[in-house]
Amino acid sequence: MSIKENYQIIKNQLPSEVQLVAVSKTHPVSAIQEVYELGQRVFGENKVQELMEKYPLLPQDIQWHLIGHLQTNKVKYIAPFIDTIQSVDSERLLNEINKESRKNNRVIKVLLQVKIAAEESKFGLEISEAKALFLQYLEGKFPHVEITGLMGMATFTEDEQQVKKEFLTLKGVFDELNQLKTLKTLSMGMSDDFPVAIACGANSVRVGSAIFGRRDYSQ
Ligand SMILES: *Cc1c(COP(=O)(O)O)cnc(C)c1O
Repeated sequence: MSIKENYQIIKNQLPSEVQLVAVSKTHPVSAIQEVYELGQRVFGENKVQELMEKYPLLPQDIQWHLIGHLQTNKVKYIAPFIDTIQSVDSERLLNEINKESRKNNRVIKVLLQVKIAAEESKFGLEISEAKALFLQYLEGKFPHVEITGLMGMATFTEDEQQVKKEFLTLKGVFDELNQLKTLKTLSMGMSDDFPVAIACGANSVRVGSAIFGRRDYSQ
């Protein structure tokens, strides 16, 4: 199927209030342009270098989301233009984003990435760390960022109950923090599990291969 058909199929499955982040990592600028022309404006990349190569070649009204682990020494490259950093996984990183955001006279939107998967390898804050960081934010410690919500990735498994349990855990944390200060975004779900994520309360999904096709990491 073509990118266009894939995109329409995904869009048709999303309730109108659910934001789609089109994850374009490894895919060429031409493919991103094609999806842009279908009306999509929010795109996600997981590597700073790849984003820096693509960004100048594409329309300036794209809202770029960084969705992969971000090293503090690379924040300065994306701070002038990034719309949202979804992958805040340490206080140190949040401090650095706050600093670079101030330098650029901006307020960068961020999501706290919370570890919900059973797998060891996934980046993210423990739930207790995320809550503690959010409290510091409420006390005014990071005035140049706006924490707009939470992001999480479920375990890569066929076991839908496991995935559901993890998503519901994050929804619980979201509801709890949302009582302290209104949060906009609960980012959960990818190509394989976004319907489950939406059923569990996600209002933003990050979909890559179901739109752009399989990724080729060989080059
Ligand atoms: C690659 C990636 C996605 C998209 O994955 P697909 O399975 O291709 O939809 C979503 N979120 C993050 C954090 C990713 O790195």
